[in-house]
Amino acid sequence: MSVEEKSIRLLRENPICDHCLGRLFARYGRGLRNEDRGRSIKTVLTMEAHRMLSLPGMEVQAEQNLRALWVNGGFEPAKQALLYEGKEVEPQGRACMVCNGMMDKLAEAVQAALDSLHQIDYENFLVSTVGAEEIMKREEDLAVSYGLEGFESVKWEINREVGKAISAVTGKPVELKRPDVLVEVHPLSMTVSLKLSSIFVYGRYRKLERGMPQSKWLCSYCHGKGCAHCNYTGKKYPTSVEEEIANVLVPLAQGSGDKFHGAGREDVDARMLGDGRPFVMEILNPKKRRFDLSGAEREIKERSAGKVEVLGLRFVGPTMVQRVKSGEKSRKKYAGLIESEQEISEEDVRIINASFNNVEILQRTPTRVSRRRADIARKKTVYAFQVKKVGPNLLQFEAETEGGTYVKELISGDSGRTVPSVSGKIGKLLKCKELDVLGVEGQYESEGI
Ligand SMILES: [Zn+2]
Ligand SMILES: [Zn+2]
Repeated sequence: MSVEEKSIRLLRENPICDHCLGRLFARYGRGLRNEDRGRSIKTVLTMEAHRMLSLPGMEVQAEQNLRALWVNGGFEPAKQALLYEGKEVEPQGRACMVCNGMMDKLAEAVQAALDSLHQIDYENFLVSTVGAEEIMKREEDLAVSYGLEGFESVKWEINREVGKAISAVTGKPVELKRPDVLVEVHPLSMTVSLKLSSIFVYGRYRKLERGMPQSKWLCSYCHGKGCAHCNYTGKKYPTSVEEEIANVLVPLAQGSGDKFHGAGREDVDARMLGDGRPFVMEILNPKKRRFDLSGAEREIKERSAGKVEVLGLRFVGPTMVQRVKSGEKSRKKYAGLIESEQEISEEDVRIINASFNNVEILQRTPTRVSRRRADIARKKTVYAFQVKKVGPNLLQFEAETEGGTYVKELISGDSGRTVPSVSGKIGKLLKCKELDVLGVEGQYESEGI
């Protein structure tokens, strides 16, 4: 059956708008909008029915076709033809049985999208239709009953038409892979909602005060709700590196929250000095995608009252998250103080300084974290470990180790769970009293976004 034959059958049995009729034959003809396809089919059918109206024996069928085109197709020229030929004309019938008249109101969705987009920063966008399942079911049913193998899903038409209309007004392109904003169209209500993709800020942080975790740490009793244990803050520690940074960056981006990705982490009681530790802060639902980062660096330092400093902030792409996280395994430099139960001799110092030159150690998960992490044994390399006596029971130390080495346990031996250990080498019980991270190796500064 030809396009015309199928179309007149469809229109005699169902109310169908221009968009939906055209979409049922979307495969045929290129560079045409579905609405134009639908109008063109109805135009040809109207002309043909009007021509047949004066042919003997054809009048009844021709008149029925013209009425179908007007009543079911809502096609004004068919009504004009009937009136011209002196026929009575009934009012237009029900709305389109596929879209229920929705496709004629796409301009409302476009306007709603433009109003929302006006309030945010974005370079590109993508349109996605949600909640069109009923419409899709009806068009699939029609396609099956009428043998229409060339139809297109309503979703694609909405996505394309709304996308083109937004581009035409804003001049911003559609981006399929990684759009700054996803415009979700809800066709039943002709409303839109925006999904803003995260932005990512890379930098290095220095933590200049002990007793602060890297990321927000919820109270273990109430898990953030607030209880007597945490003084109704919901948190185990009053602040964290993450919060000190997020408190500045999230409001600048007008975001809804953050995720913190660090190249490993130091203990709560360790400082992070030197050039700092690489991190990426992901800011969720940002209305602003670019802002002054050097101003942000100054503000973080001021507002945290010297507890946290950040260096080299810059905007990066999402792939930087994995790159920074893999830095967890890179070399680290440490410094700190060791306290001994017994007095330290010069011989002890000599033994320690000679013992850890590119040495492999075996570490089981430390007792202090074994409740939170699986108990496994890891091989780690200690590249260097040097001490200097600064009191009868006190040693200053500097160490360089493979990422993921538990330095406190390397010193104490953790009751034999780390071997060899500094304690074990001299047979005296040692404890890491202070720990600072001096450096985290990593080549991020020169890499692109
Ligand atoms: Zn329709
Ligand atoms: Zn609590």
